[in-house]
Amino acid sequence: MKQKIFDLMPPATLVALLLFWANVPKAWLVQQWLLPVVTFVVIAFVQVLEYFNERHEGWRLNKTEFFTDIFYAVLYSTAISWATSTLADEPMMALKKSLGIATPWVTNLPFLLQVLMVMTIWELGQYWMHRLMHNNALLWSTHAPHHHITQLNAMKGYVGNPIELFLISLGVVVLFDWNLAAMFAGFSCLSAISVYAHANVRADPPIWYAYAFTTIRNHSLHHTAISYEDTRCNYGNSLIIMDRMFGTYREGESEIVGQGDRMRLSIKEQWLFPFQTWLDRMKDRPSSPTSAN
Ligand SMILES: [Zn+2]
Ligand SMILES: [Zn+2]
Repeated sequence: MKQKIFDLMPPATLVALLLFWANVPKAWLVQQWLLPVVTFVVIAFVQVLEYFNERHEGWRLNKTEFFTDIFYAVLYSTAISWATSTLADEPMMALKKSLGIATPWVTNLPFLLQVLMVMTIWELGQYWMHRLMHNNALLWSTHAPHHHITQLNAMKGYVGNPIELFLISLGVVVLFDWNLAAMFAGFSCLSAISVYAHANVRADPPIWYAYAFTTIRNHSLHHTAISYEDTRCNYGNSLIIMDRMFGTYREGESEIVGQGDRMRLSIKEQWLFPFQTWLDRMKDRPSSPTSAN
């Protein structure tokens, strides 16, 4: 009975989020804090679930893991989201306005349809960006720190090199004229699915959920420690249906996660990772004759 309730938690969370956003007071919608606050409430709830029904003892949170995770979740909802809106979203919207492009028909579509469209358009970009990161050495050097994590928890989806975090926060969703509540509902659902897909919770949702949405089962396989080649599947951060459509879906799960001999990286190492080869080369350079001896 207890397990059945936990298995239904991911779909129940999505239903609760949809109900919330469909009925949210208009005055709240313009508040910038609303979306991050809802995200943090979901994270806190999933963390409580981790406490009461953990998936693997080896993934249990300790202080270091918890504070690292908090650091990245805050970084993502402050500095990274500021950078995205300043460097990408606002210039894109200004260009759209100057070209006189508008999509007023979008805002009149049914609420649920708009939510689904937001999720699909966003995740389509995410899927290909993520797949490219596993197929290009330079991009991989920014994504690898996310794969060096050696356990999965509710906030682990936010852990990574800042360049990668910026790249995965890019999207074209803002180019459409959505009903604001529907757009936030879409983002909220995507992040809730991703939180569950990284969480140490023994929850295996029914197939009607797991067919379309990413679960910890399939995402843990993407983080497998078996080999780098074995991580090249299940790229959909929230919509695993993208992998089913584009032929990269693999069934299964992995308890042992992490790349590079499963060496846990500190925050400093995560930030320096893409530049490490270059830094090592600088260090190994023979010292000049004047500075020798
Ligand atoms: Zn990956
Ligand atoms: Zn991940």
